[in-house]
Amino acid sequence: MAHDFQALCAFAQTLGCEAAAGVPFAEFTTFRTGGPCGALITAPGPDALKAMLAALKERAIPFLFLGNGSNVLAPDEGLDRAVLRLGDDEPRLAGDGNVYCGAGTKLITLCRFALEHGLSGLEFAYGIPGSVGGAAFMNGGAYGGEMKDVVTRVFHLTPDGEEGSLTNKEAKFNYRDSAYRTNGCIITGVEFQLTPADPADIKAKMDDLLSRRKAKQPLEYPSAGSTFKRPAGNFAGALIEQCGLKGLAVGGAEVSEKHAGFIINKQGATSADITALIREVQRRVKEQTGVELEPEVILLR
Ligand SMILES: Cc1cc2nc3c(=O)[nH]c(=O)nc-3n(C[C@H](O)[C@H](O)[C@H](O)COP(=O)(O)OP(=O)(O)OC[C@H]3O[C@@H](n4cnc5c(N)ncnc54)[C@H](O)[C@@H]3O)c2cc1C
Repeated sequence: MAHDFQALCAFAQTLGCEAAAGVPFAEFTTFRTGGPCGALITAPGPDALKAMLAALKERAIPFLFLGNGSNVLAPDEGLDRAVLRLGDDEPRLAGDGNVYCGAGTKLITLCRFALEHGLSGLEFAYGIPGSVGGAAFMNGGAYGGEMKDVVTRVFHLTPDGEEGSLTNKEAKFNYRDSAYRTNGCIITGVEFQLTPADPADIKAKMDDLLSRRKAKQPLEYPSAGSTFKRPAGNFAGALIEQCGLKGLAVGGAEVSEKHAGFIINKQGATSADITALIREVQRRVKEQTGVELEPEVILLR
């Protein structure tokens, strides 16, 4: 049965959500590919999100939750599902160097807030183009830091809309992994423990890491960052380069000449191009080195 996404959007708007039917994934994912979703709904906060979860359940409409769409690849034919997101929120001080931030807020906003308040610990995250919730879900990390180091508690809604939370330990953070990968909960907010420090030092570190990104990464093209997870004892980019795959292309998708760990949407790539290139890189790396590369990018279905 076809789902009535127009009616769903009309209901979402009564809750203060931004909602539109048939928005292409290409418009809200960083790979800039993918066909239409049923409806793109951005809730202003957890209460509206809770009401949306109930409405989706009642209408038997399938959905997925996204943050900033910076680690996903959506199919070219789109998905007959609603996409839920949480809107931006202002981070706030929660005492003793603690900061609370809504999950829909961009990491960059949180990093700037920490800088303004002379709080150190999030410098590594400056430049990761995800949301706070997406970064907790993925245990995002860079330059020797990861979310695991600074998160004290993760707040969520269960699939039934019940409020709950997990401590750092309970969230089972691991390399690009957390309990949220399998527990079906939606992260609504995250609490961090940061350390007071000289804002000049924090800023110097943030600027240094951002300039290293700009020097090494193909930020001028759409991508989802590192395409593959780091294999044990090795680096995906180094292996791909060693196999001579820089510049390998399928349609408009290419293994970046600047950083072999990135597959980029060089020119008008489809998701099918990107997926085919991922498979070809996996095949050649396995053949030449014996290493099985696992995608870090989440292939939406
Ligand atoms: C140029 C570039 C550079 C990057 N550099 C890095 C890097 O240095 N380090 C790094 O770790 N990553 C990096 N990434 C990848 C990406 O930014 C991170 O994985 C980021 O944490 C994803 O956050 P997001 O909000 O975009 O998540 P999305 O891509 O929207 O979603 C990713 C997954 O998280 C789930 N999810 C998102 N939000 C929530 C939530 N609130 N509750 C429950 N589930 C949720 C989604 O369902 C999905 O399965 C980079 C990406 C790009 C494009």
